[in-house]
Amino acid sequence: MSLTLPAGLSVSAEVDKFISTAADSIVVDGERRPARSGRTLESVDPATGAPLATIAAGDAADVDAAVASARSAFEHSWGRLPPAARGRLLLGFADLVDEHAEELATLETLDAGKPLTEALYIDAAYTAETIRYYAGWATKLHGDVLPVSPAVGEAFVYTRREPLGVVGAIVPWNFPMLITSWKIGPALAAGNTVVLKPSEMTSLTAVRLAELALEAGLPPGALNVVTGFGPEAGQALAEHPDVDKVTFTGSTATGRRIVNASAGNLKQVALELGGKSPNIVFADADLDQAVPGAFTGIFLNQGEVCCAGSRAYVEAPVYDEFVERLTAAAGKVRLGHGLADGTDMGPLVSAGQRDRVVGYIESGVAEGATPASAAATPAGGYFVAPTIFTGVTDSMTIAREEIFGPVLSVLRFESEDDVVVRANASRYGLAAGVWTTDLRKAHRMAAVLQAGTVWINAYNMMDPTAPFGGCKESGFGRDLGVDAVRSYTHPKTVWVGLD
Ligand code: NDP
Repeated sequence: MSLTLPAGLSVSAEVDKFISTAADSIVVDGERRPARSGRTLESVDPATGAPLATIAAGDAADVDAAVASARSAFEHSWGRLPPAARGRLLLGFADLVDEHAEELATLETLDAGKPLTEALYIDAAYTAETIRYYAGWATKLHGDVLPVSPAVGEAFVYTRREPLGVVGAIVPWNFPMLITSWKIGPALAAGNTVVLKPSEMTSLTAVRLAELALEAGLPPGALNVVTGFGPEAGQALAEHPDVDKVTFTGSTATGRRIVNASAGNLKQVALELGGKSPNIVFADADLDQAVPGAFTGIFLNQGEVCCAGSRAYVEAPVYDEFVERLTAAAGKVRLGHGLADGTDMGPLVSAGQRDRVVGYIESGVAEGATPASAAATPAGGYFVAPTIFTGVTDSMTIAREEIFGPVLSVLRFESEDDVVVRANASRYGLAAGVWTTDLRKAHRMAAVLQAGTVWINAYNMMDPTAPFGGCKESGFGRDLGVDAVRSYTHPKTVWVGLD
């Protein structure tokens, strides 16, 4: 398939060539191949709605082959390598991601719609940094010597940190490459092998990453990719009896299905799910920071961010000024193709996602809230202008449900106690933001907010060292940090009798 781009836009020959071969998108045993069934699916450029690539639609047979390949690599190659060798290979992999950053970012922009600068400086850059960070952990996972007091005899007891085996990683379409690195980085560093299932809407960078891993010297089977539909390939992976752990990022509804599917062999599960995160602006906040902070808190990546600060609670004395300044900033957003110069915000990932978000905007209006959205939306493509709702009450659908688009509810609050109760009255608990110049208030809030991450005078800051995940229906388990890499191991206890 040859790539159709709007006039004036182009991609490099290597990107064009990669896309034209995307039908061989299943990577098993170090080889790219089509689906065993021969079936394919079409992905589109969300900025135009034009066909982008033909991808292999893998199913349970492809998952079986990939899991067998991963098992073999776990037992015979990757899982047998000394930690330092794994670390060196992962460092080489990270360097290759950096070398191919432009190409990877272009693929991500075409597939997911996001502006190229974000794909380059957030997605590609932090993918490399995450893999590099976990390369360092390969040599730093160790057990302990335990001070036991056996009732009978003497013993020397120690633990070994052992990999789990084969990890199934199921990742979404909002940060396809970056979230992939959050899963494969720690899993591979700890000595596991991986079968990766990207979203059918954004498979390209997963395949390219697997190629780069092979080029870096990771043995065939260490990182396999099965592209295809969630209910087929994804479900088969979550159910597979020879997968030891499944790590998932996506919707709460699919997370529930994964938990059910995992019950067959009682595999471990880690879930990073949805959110409806409160971003709380106190009257003593520095609005020169809080307004742009709330702006990127909701509008980064078109609002398709699991930790998006989609409920702004603003203290009454600064409510009107906050709304006025934020609405003015939103009105200046330039929507366009992610590859075009000057684009601030791209389209949503699909027509379905666009319709879902528009449906929420309509529900906000129907329930009595007032929207403001002054930015112009280009013709064609799945664009939604950044939309700020005022006159919102906590019980409205737009204030309760995850919208996953550029839609912000701004709610007024009167006191610290009032806002804590309202912020925590959500089934989600992924993240929260607090804007204040009062240090004591900031730490009081950090302690009581029910969330996996609290940002104070900041929003959406991330780092490979900082654990990320949620509580309540935002899931369990953590990506990133030492917590993630340890979660891909189990402590084996060894008793040595000394009598
Ligand atoms: P899903 O949760 O369905 O998709 C996430 C991943 O799960 C994709 O790789 C998907 O594959 C896969 N998947 C889908 N069904 C199954 C299954 N039965 N078994 C195993 N894997 C499966 O999200 P949607 O694309 O449906 O998005 C709907 C809403 O979910 C969004 O509007 C948003 O609110 C939320 N969401 C939250 C995300 C987050 O980061 N927390 C990320 C994505 C969505 P495929 O895409 O091929 O179907």
